[in-house]
Amino acid sequence: MSLSFNPETLPLPIGHFIGGKLIEAYDGLDMHRPSDGAAHAQCPVADTERVNHAVENAKAALKSSNWGGVRPRERTKSLQAWADLIEAEAGTLAKIEALSSTRPVGQLVAGDIAVTAEQIRFFAEFADKEGSNVVPTDDQTFGMTISEPYGVVGAITPWNFPISMAGWKLGPALAAGNAVVIKPSEMTPFSTVYMAQLAVRAGIPAGLINVVLGDGPTTGNALTGHADIARVSFTGSTRAGSAIMENIARTGVKPMTLELGGKSPQLVFADADLNKAAAAIASSVTFNAGQACVAGTRLIVEKSVADELIAAIIAQMQTARPGPTWDAATQYSPIISERQRSRIASIVEAAKAAGGECLTGGYAMEGAGYFYAPTLISGATQDNPAIIEEIFGPVLTVQTFEGEEEALALSAHPVYGLASGLFTSDLSRTLRFARALEAGTVWVNRYSRSRDHILPTGGYKRSGIGKDLGREAYETNRKSKSVLISL
Ligand code: NAD
Repeated sequence: MSLSFNPETLPLPIGHFIGGKLIEAYDGLDMHRPSDGAAHAQCPVADTERVNHAVENAKAALKSSNWGGVRPRERTKSLQAWADLIEAEAGTLAKIEALSSTRPVGQLVAGDIAVTAEQIRFFAEFADKEGSNVVPTDDQTFGMTISEPYGVVGAITPWNFPISMAGWKLGPALAAGNAVVIKPSEMTPFSTVYMAQLAVRAGIPAGLINVVLGDGPTTGNALTGHADIARVSFTGSTRAGSAIMENIARTGVKPMTLELGGKSPQLVFADADLNKAAAAIASSVTFNAGQACVAGTRLIVEKSVADELIAAIIAQMQTARPGPTWDAATQYSPIISERQRSRIASIVEAAKAAGGECLTGGYAMEGAGYFYAPTLISGATQDNPAIIEEIFGPVLTVQTFEGEEEALALSAHPVYGLASGLFTSDLSRTLRFARALEAGTVWVNRYSRSRDHILPTGGYKRSGIGKDLGREAYETNRKSKSVLISL
């Protein structure tokens, strides 16, 4: 069955989702479909009162369901049922997501949604396996650490992978025994609402997942500053991450996980498999049109193989077929908004003014929607805007090096340290660089995640604090109490 659909007739769950009920609301911020620019809905904006209402419901649901205190396997089973229903309803969920986001419907079911269901199951399995510990003491005392859920977690997600990001936040928080109030991006809110509806249908107690829609300054601020939000989990830009830290510092103290921006390098040595490197590098900047936090947008290649590699990358960059996100055959995504496309264009112009040259692309694509051509810029020095700025679009820069020292120096970014790629067949060099690269993730001879969800993800420097995925994401949703008993 084709997943292609008519964007004019798709029903959407428009409203906040609180206490297990959709609170319909249709007025708010204008939403435009990235694929054709058409205004298609408004995103309601939850004010402080609405956020308070959501937090109250989360607290009440925690109490009435005893979610944090039931046999942990009950949480596992409920989350597994939710993952099953997400898979069963993947077609509908994919369409809701594709309509307002940059994710092509044909990539969502087997990609984002299947992986999200698997990650929810992965986190569900921690519930009855990780816990409290007895610690070594002398025989006159008994010491232990008791692990407990926080209570109500506040989560905020970006627009670039809305379903995946909701799964990263909700899965570990719920498995660990918490309730969540989540605010998706105002540009792509409805797939998160649908996921929450599925959770209730799957038997997760109503009120454990509440979705408040709105923007950062109104809804996001009310959520992160709420006295009963015990911890905050955020994914988005470094700028918004700073604003959230400031708001939390002003309104109280609470732990937070911040998954922020990146400007990740990919280093290619002459001894690498260049075909493999070209495919990985091209797809890391064309996948979702480069709108990924980990996009490997700075190619740093050994001079002797630069021409050969650049030609192979340009050929690969041009293969992804653009089209509307509701066409199942589409491979190449639009940019999320006209504003963001103009920003990409202006950084490319500034890069050229500072000495860069476009070897391919460098223009907005003609026709409907906010498409921008895959772009490769050479001749940029370390202070060029295309090297410094997180462009969040399909723009790759290329710089050349001679020797490991120069490669490492070029790879360092003054602000970001999210991910990095290394292509080489030299084992010793691999291990030297795995240590030396200043990034939360180092991919070697590949540039993508696998489905090994045990590997955490998170940034060095101003790319973030804390981790999503892995054991860390579960543990960070529990707090630890030390108990010491004199016998
Ligand atoms: P953004 O920071 O503009 O918005 C992200 C979310 O934060 C949205 O829901 C927004 O409404 C909210 N927000 C904005 N200001 C806020 C405030 N002051 N208080 C509370 N909430 C606020 O980011 P975006 O444009 O939606 O997403 C792109 C950014 O996200 C990029 O920088 C990208 O690198 C980053 N990102 C990081 C990761 C990661 O794992 N590190 C993953 C995906 C995206």
